[in-house]
Amino acid sequence: MAKDTSLVSLLDRHIRTLSLSIGERHCKKPDALKRAASYIEAELKATGLAVSVLEYEFRGQNFANIEAVLAGSEPDGGDIVIGAHYDSEFDTPGANDNGTGVAAVLAIANDLKDYRPKSSLRFVAFANEEAQFFNTDGMGSMVYARALKAQGRHINLMFSLETMGYFTAGAGSQRYPEELQDLGLPDQGNFLAFVSREDCLPQLEKTVSAFRLFSNVPCEMLAADENIQGVSLSDHMSFWKQGYPAIMVTDTAPYRYPHYHQPQDTPDKINMKVYKEAVLGLTATIAHLAGKS
Ligand SMILES: [Zn+2]
Repeated sequence: MAKDTSLVSLLDRHIRTLSLSIGERHCKKPDALKRAASYIEAELKATGLAVSVLEYEFRGQNFANIEAVLAGSEPDGGDIVIGAHYDSEFDTPGANDNGTGVAAVLAIANDLKDYRPKSSLRFVAFANEEAQFFNTDGMGSMVYARALKAQGRHINLMFSLETMGYFTAGAGSQRYPEELQDLGLPDQGNFLAFVSREDCLPQLEKTVSAFRLFSNVPCEMLAADENIQGVSLSDHMSFWKQGYPAIMVTDTAPYRYPHYHQPQDTPDKINMKVYKEAVLGLTATIAHLAGKS
């Protein structure tokens, strides 16, 4: 495991590079999107893992998902995918959405590079999650999940790391979609949320009990109808579409974060102390779920 101080500076560097040095990154800023992809590729290569740049074309424009694989000792046992989208919405630097998700993927890959898992781990940064591509054939995670299915890959679980750095103790700071308002969920936005569908409840329970063992960061789990607003709203949806179990790990983004999709989504809004602990807890959880060979 990385030392606490070095992990904070690593996460901080990733988030600052993506949101400040590169800034807005999407189809209308193709150079920035490419710079983000190159940065992620270089960071994953630096771990020594096998890295692939998976290019694809959509509406005449080229995009790429970036993947690093840590091969497990039981190749037929099913893989775990740890993914995050690296594009930003228009007119936002996307520090929390989704600099925090990408930084977490990079940090977890770096931390586990010498681990000997039973299940293979696939660390992936996806293009094109945001609005204009969501649920289209141009969405990076859609292209990636379909390719896994076409190759006949067995995926035990996919984690979608989505906007996971904003934590606040303010009363009433946590909001919910209408259907979830009477479930007695906390009204303080100080927890990490694990969100999935009812059919993924066994994987969700296993994940959350491991996370609670390894981390003091408060967390909540929700197995809900995918049609409830927000429940499907990231790359895990693409995996559900292929019949793969998938869980979103998030600070709940629009239900908590005041700067969601705004120009003010900058690194200073991220609670580095809690976010770092969340990344540490997730790393240990993923190592545990993958098994040690
Ligand atoms: Zn996002």
